[in-house]
Amino acid sequence: MIDNSLVVLNSLSGEKEAFKPINPGYVGMYVCGPTVYSNVHLGNCRTFISFDLIYRYLKHLGYKVRYVRNITDAGHLENDEDTGEDRIAKKARIEKIEPMEVVQYYTVDFHQILEKFNTLPPGIEPTATGHIIEQIELIKEILKAGYAYEINGSVYFDVLKYNETNHYGKLSGRKIEELIHNTRTLEGQSDKKNPQDFALWKKAEPQHIMRWPSPWSDGFPGWHLECTAMSTKYLGASFDIHGGGMDLKFPHHECEIAQAQAIHQHPPVKYWLHANMLTLNGKKMAKSTGNNILPLDIFTGKNDFFKKPYSPQVVRFFMLQAHYTSILDISEDALEASEKGYMRLIEGVKQLATITPGNEAGGFDTEMWLKKCYAAMDDDFNSPLLIAQLFDAVKYINQVVHKGIPISSAQWDCLNTMLASFIHDVLGIAPEVKSSSEAEDKLSKTIGLLIALRNKARANKDFATSDQIRDQLLSYGIQLNDGKEGTQFTIK
Ligand SMILES: [Zn+2]
Repeated sequence: MIDNSLVVLNSLSGEKEAFKPINPGYVGMYVCGPTVYSNVHLGNCRTFISFDLIYRYLKHLGYKVRYVRNITDAGHLENDEDTGEDRIAKKARIEKIEPMEVVQYYTVDFHQILEKFNTLPPGIEPTATGHIIEQIELIKEILKAGYAYEINGSVYFDVLKYNETNHYGKLSGRKIEELIHNTRTLEGQSDKKNPQDFALWKKAEPQHIMRWPSPWSDGFPGWHLECTAMSTKYLGASFDIHGGGMDLKFPHHECEIAQAQAIHQHPPVKYWLHANMLTLNGKKMAKSTGNNILPLDIFTGKNDFFKKPYSPQVVRFFMLQAHYTSILDISEDALEASEKGYMRLIEGVKQLATITPGNEAGGFDTEMWLKKCYAAMDDDFNSPLLIAQLFDAVKYINQVVHKGIPISSAQWDCLNTMLASFIHDVLGIAPEVKSSSEAEDKLSKTIGLLIALRNKARANKDFATSDQIRDQLLSYGIQLNDGKEGTQFTIK
């Protein structure tokens, strides 16, 4: 129920603010998606799981949420600034494939991994290359407003001009003087008037294959522009939540604010939310140092960091045991503890289902418990606090089972409904997928049953049925082999 108790930490003010969407009952939320040039890494997954939690809780409260998360498939250069090769074009060149093959491959990978983590898909997932026209229109508007300049076929945002009447750096807490002082001028490498300026449109070099026609040159949009174009198109010039990883605050989100403010003369976003980073064994994750692990490597157990595999649900649960704004460290000990906690929680729910409630109530105040659960989530989506409450309920359930403490029907109903709701709907923890050996065991038993039915049909001279069973199984890739020992089967 929407009762306006929710507060969120707004990165723009640095303070917790009451969450009041622009249109009551509706929420527009934009989250910066991945640049699809390599496998999605675990740190990114943490960001998307964090915003999945936020999306799920807003929906749980009854908001109608329009969730937009983009796919960056052009314009993101190697060093996040305006130099270097396009990340996707570079990968395509190395692999000797089309850039759009790179995009397709890693978009599929991204979706598959996030599905394993049980994240809900966004309502709209627009791509940069699908919105080139919108981006060109935005550049025209920024030029018209006087905050950009064209030079040699490229267009740059004029940061100093913008800063005369606005504060460039207000999200990341930077001052323009410091930026000027700290930015190196790359002599001869750029047409920019000032090194702080950022590209809205870049003229493509002859060898650059990802290019589109524009009034200024055949080229490509600057990375920061796509998010302004797509958030404005789908959520309007003012919307409620903009999210992303902490590392995107500067320059990416700062540039987004500048672009939108330059055109509309008002800030685009009411609440900026940032998810913090994930470290591995106490150190920053980076491909270059080897202190890096892909989600699949954790699920399969094929990695140099952990002794055994951990399921996507355990990893998700582990991530939710920390607040999304805190730095979280992943390690064997932490994962093992989370796995135990996860099992205890799921076991508690199963135990509850076996209990028959009576008339007498036990000493567990379900009403107060429910209030505490909501209070946790209303306090800037504090999932670790919610999980602590869920464990309190599990403790009570165990006392009912093992110590004969009473539970009334009202208590049972509340726990039964709300535990499932918090675990599955809000935290997004899915029931564990059965291990393959368990699944195989069930398959063997099922085929055994079909073999028995076939034998019965043959004994009754019902050859139509026995042939049907054999042929149908064969069409599924399961071959029956009749021999002295009876009928065996092989799966092709
Ligand atoms: Zn973005």
